[in-house]
Amino acid sequence: MASMVHGTSSDDSIAYRALPSLDRLLTAAASLIRTYGRDETIRGLRQGLADARSRIAQGQPAPDSPTLLAAAESLLADRNRPRLQRVFNLTGTVLHTNLGRAVLPEEAITAIVDAARSPCALEYDVITGGRGDRDDVVNELLQELTGAEAATVVNNNAAAVFLLLNTLAQRKEVIVSRGELVEIGGAFRVPDIMKRAGAKLVEVGCTNRTHPRDFEEAIRPRTGLLMKIHTSNYAVEGFTASVGQTDMARIAHAQGLPFVEDLGSGTLTELERWGLPHEPTPREAIANGADLVTFSGDKLLGGPQAGILVGRKDLIGKIKKNPLKRALRVGKITLAGLEAVLRLYRDPDTLAERLTTLRLLTRSRDGILAQAERLQPTIAQALAHWPLTVSIAPMLSQIGSGSLPVDRLPSAGLVFHPQGRKGGALHRLEAALRGLPLPVIGRIADNALHLDLRCLPERDEATFLSQFRQGFKSC
Ligand SMILES: *Cc1c(COP(=O)(O)O)cnc(C)c1O
Repeated sequence: MASMVHGTSSDDSIAYRALPSLDRLLTAAASLIRTYGRDETIRGLRQGLADARSRIAQGQPAPDSPTLLAAAESLLADRNRPRLQRVFNLTGTVLHTNLGRAVLPEEAITAIVDAARSPCALEYDVITGGRGDRDDVVNELLQELTGAEAATVVNNNAAAVFLLLNTLAQRKEVIVSRGELVEIGGAFRVPDIMKRAGAKLVEVGCTNRTHPRDFEEAIRPRTGLLMKIHTSNYAVEGFTASVGQTDMARIAHAQGLPFVEDLGSGTLTELERWGLPHEPTPREAIANGADLVTFSGDKLLGGPQAGILVGRKDLIGKIKKNPLKRALRVGKITLAGLEAVLRLYRDPDTLAERLTTLRLLTRSRDGILAQAERLQPTIAQALAHWPLTVSIAPMLSQIGSGSLPVDRLPSAGLVFHPQGRKGGALHRLEAALRGLPLPVIGRIADNALHLDLRCLPERDEATFLSQFRQGFKSC
């Protein structure tokens, strides 16, 4: 009976004894110890030996020392690969939340590295030697770029909205149009945020139409504020009416109430200048009477993750005094990146060159087509053994992150069509691309895999192609 069970035959015990000891392996593992440290190396070698023992139990011979060292090395390399891996975003969505949204400009990267490396005057006034306020790092720039009296920065726009509601409308009512009760990516739903912030939501109007009188009639002694929310990830079309900023401000101010707006993306420049669709700006909202405006740092603004509040000085002052501000504030890394990005907006003439997000959004289809033509031969060759065809096709990118939901940007890229009827090869290809050292993320639609090249900068082309040249997996 015992001889029938794997791992107990005498052949196996000879094989087990042929395995080198951990100590012997360790003396030959100097280069692994240098890279990973002694404890990690021991862990890798132990795992390699355990794997070898289970293979012996299945009747395989004992591996020699070099094979065991190589196995440990690959285990350790895998264990120690950064989880926040760099990837190629060829999904066609420029501001992809799951892929980290905005790619920062060099100016911001330099500022972030400097702030990370050295002490900095985060809350310190170098002129007086007294204590400073971290919001002062960006306050002046934000005032200048939005026309607002004051500004403050928190962790993200969801935090900005939450803090605003909690400060100005706790135990009060907040009037919002039914057409604007947005959900952004599941975790941010306006009604839920209101509840958590302690405010009571009062919905007015209908999904498609809301009129000034809807707001006027809903105002009561317990009303805290009137709120407008940018419908960033959908569009209400057809028989519609909404109340504009000027009317909302007039109605609120007539009753001594603040009018606030959550702009979501909130670019700081007029995008029409670059042929892009108009996106409402904080400057516009402030000029039209908004008392406070909130927006994200890492959407169209093109900076680090942050939530920015701008508006009336007294209201910003109240917000900064809320103890929750301390819990939601940003660190020096964020402020360093944000300051550098905001400064780029001072020179609109060079913005599309220097601000990465805008550079990607303004790439022309012709330029992207030319890039596709440069890449196609190498990719086609690497995939020669796959039952797929690789062609160049026009595509439509989207801005993403809830910005300008209905607008599409003319783009181009590579499309992989399966030769057979079944899509199995497509999914295998998608997985193989994800499995590259720098994963390539595409999009499957209409029984084809699409790689939109808008977000592949020219300077990354060589790196991108080298992954295919170095023997891409066969199907
Ligand atoms: C994106 C968005 C938010 C959430 O912003 P985060 O920076 O992701 O927290 C809130 N409101 C609107 C209208 C948005 O578009």
